[in-house]
Amino acid sequence: MPPTAKQVVAHWSDREDESSLAVDWEEAHERCRRCAYRARLEKCHIVPASLGGTATPDNLVLLCSRCHREAPNHSNLQYMWQWLRATCVPLYDTYWTVRGWEEFEVMFGRKPFATFADAGEDSPASDYRSLLAAEFDQTIIHFGEGRRNPATIACMIAELEQKLATRLGITLPDPPATRARTGPWGI
Ligand SMILES: [Zn+2]
Repeated sequence: MPPTAKQVVAHWSDREDESSLAVDWEEAHERCRRCAYRARLEKCHIVPASLGGTATPDNLVLLCSRCHREAPNHSNLQYMWQWLRATCVPLYDTYWTVRGWEEFEVMFGRKPFATFADAGEDSPASDYRSLLAAEFDQTIIHFGEGRRNPATIACMIAELEQKLATRLGITLPDPPATRARTGPWGI
């Protein structure tokens, strides 16, 4: 019989320090080990079954479907915990928003709202939450995804920036025409 979620959590809670992980052990049976959102959790193999990994607690972690798709599929089991620690964020329910901000940087070549700080507007709108809420109507959650994806959040940030820029009379820079994102050997 496959192990339960609580058995998986119990195994790792004795072995991994929660201080640099996204989720406290007492909530780890109901929050994704990586993004820390409450979600239906999947038992993700650390070493894939096709590479000899077993469906036992020592080779499983609990991830949401989105994080499961991004998790390493490698024969070296060390990479899973390295990845979990390196890619998590410290606060619950912020991970996918942080990913949206990172996607904005890739799309526009600057940090969100950096233009406003440069113009001396440290907090350009006290009503940014309601402005952002209005942006939800312009987007959807893709079928099967459960949440807005990072690219969609990046677009919402861009729309919000534009509204604030218009209000404040600030001109936003054009995004770079081309972006060099090649690997170290031109890969
Ligand atoms: Zn997740």
